[in-house]
Amino acid sequence: MPTPLGHTLTGVIIHTIIRKKRKKKQSCQSWMCLLFCIIFSSLPDIDFISLSNSSNGFLLPGVGLSWENHHGPTHSLGFVILTMLVVMVVARIFQKNWKQWGFISGLCVFCHVFMDTLIVKKGLMLFYPLSTHRISLVTGFPFGYSPEMGFVGFVVISAVEEAIILGCILAIVWRIMR
Ligand SMILES: [Zn+2]
Repeated sequence: MPTPLGHTLTGVIIHTIIRKKRKKKQSCQSWMCLLFCIIFSSLPDIDFISLSNSSNGFLLPGVGLSWENHHGPTHSLGFVILTMLVVMVVARIFQKNWKQWGFISGLCVFCHVFMDTLIVKKGLMLFYPLSTHRISLVTGFPFGYSPEMGFVGFVVISAVEEAIILGCILAIVWRIMR
């Protein structure tokens, strides 16, 4: 998995690009837009939240964190479209730039799904709800997992790799988009 650090950096990269591309749009220049990009770049991992009675209650009574449903329907192109539609409707109620916010939210969620497709061995149901067939583009690099690492070791190594790779991409994009 890309860790939360990887998804956060992806959100920052997306914001850096759209901020430059949409210079005239004041709404893309704000901290709110940056926060929006970071939140939507991590949104598919909302499936970590479990509402079952057997939940560990980590967050609230009856609401906990669980791997059980992770990499399910929220990691699909169907969820990308659903997110865009919901954001467009909500944005339209509150302001004019509904197309822009819909596009940005869709781009952020799509990047999350794409990145996970590269590292989730069991694959993702990309075409859910049309198909539950899992598709994986795992190459083993750069986020390869081996059992000897242990879970914590894997997360730490992944975070370091993401910090280096995505940090370099961010630095390059930042310089180009200045
Ligand atoms: Zn994910």
